Amino acid sequence: MKENLINDTLNLMKIPGLSGYEDRVRDYISDELSVLGITPFTDKLGNLRIKIPGDGPRIMLFTHMDQLGLIVRQIDENGFLRFERLGGVPEKMLPGQSVVVSTSYGQDFEGVIGIKSHHATRPEEKYTVLPYRDLYVDLGYGSRDAVRALGIDIGNPIVYKPTADMIAQDRICGTSVDDRAGCAVLLEVARQIHQRTNGGEVHIVFTVQEEFNLRGALPAAQQIKPDIAIQIDLILASDTPDMRDFGEVQLGHGPALSMFSFHGRGTLNGVIPHPELVAFIEDTASSHTIPLQKSAHIGALTDLSYVQLVGDGVASADLGFPMRYSHSSREVCDVNDLVGLTRLLVAMVTSLPSSFSLLRGV
Ligand SMILES: [Zn+2]
Repeated sequence: MKENLINDTLNLMKIPGLSGYEDRVRDYISDELSVLGITPFTDKLGNLRIKIPGDGPRIMLFTHMDQLGLIVRQIDENGFLRFERLGGVPEKMLPGQSVVVSTSYGQDFEGVIGIKSHHATRPEEKYTVLPYRDLYVDLGYGSRDAVRALGIDIGNPIVYKPTADMIAQDRICGTSVDDRAGCAVLLEVARQIHQRTNGGEVHIVFTVQEEFNLRGALPAAQQIKPDIAIQIDLILASDTPDMRDFGEVQLGHGPALSMFSFHGRGTLNGVIPHPELVAFIEDTASSHTIPLQKSAHIGALTDLSYVQLVGDGVASADLGFPMRYSHSSREVCDVNDLVGLTRLLVAMVTSLPSSFSLLRGV
């Protein structure tokens, strides 16, 4: 299990897959599922789904394949690319960053986001963050015509140049740990449970466009009509010097359950998990001696916020792996937390009783 989780996470992190351009990520996951003899289903948006029959409640496990990045807005006469942000890309991450621009033909070109030479930087410029509109990608070509000749056009996707490294013993560091580690976890859950018949009817969904304001999971949920939805993504670790007051989640101390999420800007959405589901997750973790951490904070949300509103309501919970440095080009997680999360999910869906009560007040 651990080897699979390391290999899949590292392999998936190396694949560019901006929101709306998840095809190569989906191909990797689809190929791995085919090895198990499972034929996945892809919907119009690009979500990848499998169904594993069972005699308990219908449960949807989902995780997003896409990553945040940039979109080519303009190619200037000297061949520099101006761009828009897609998702919560921190502008302070961008100057000097290596990036990859992909063409519609699937070709990738490396570039760098320009940063004013240090020797020419004035004192008042040293501590300012430049807005993305002042930045540009330098592909090393000298003209618009040369760049267009590569097949690069307006609207093409740009992501941080993929990196995927192991540091210390068991820590994974690089691009899009959010949420390729989640994809690796659900791929491993599929490997572990695809031949079992007891427990819930499991629908595993690898979704698209989560970083583009949480779009992909909703159409999948509308088709599946789950009783229970569990979303797999990062949980913010607060064990670094700059995050100490944020919470108690630590890397390497096990998977984590979100007890409250809310995004106070824009979407005004979040999730308060279903109490029976929380009790079931806690009981399952404890009976399998899997440590379980908890988080509760504003500032983040997932597509579960919308899935919980499907039909007459879906019992929902966000489960995840602790992660540091979210939305940077060097995110960090601990593979032992991915192992714990996989074990917890397998134990949950295998033991989910058909009598599981979801109605409140009865
Ligand atoms: Zn995510």
